[in-house]
Amino acid sequence: MPAVRSSNKFRNRMVYHCAADRMLMTVYCGGCRRRVHYWASDLVKVLDQFHEAHDPPWPCSRCRSREYLAMTWHVPSAAELASGLTVRRPVKKIEKWIWRNERA
Ligand SMILES: [Zn+2]
Repeated sequence: MPAVRSSNKFRNRMVYHCAADRMLMTVYCGGCRRRVHYWASDLVKVLDQFHEAHDPPWPCSRCRSREYLAMTWHVPSAAELASGLTVRRPVKKIEKWIWRNERA
């Protein structure tokens, strides 16, 4: 249910508003039809504080496109949760060294 967006970012719904309401965020790619669910409370941990709820946080993990992505939010029903809904959750943050060759 994306609301009407305002050009004033601070009038728009933020992911943290959705987290406060225990919402599920759904990212749907119209290009490859991949649909991924996230808990808003997980997304607030990894996104910047004022990330807007309608703004998909990253490109589609399957087709790498942002073009047909949409993020929506809703409170999952008991029936939806009981049906074995799959939610993508953060497991671990990885820090990685980047190496390059330099002249000695
Ligand atoms: Zn895609």
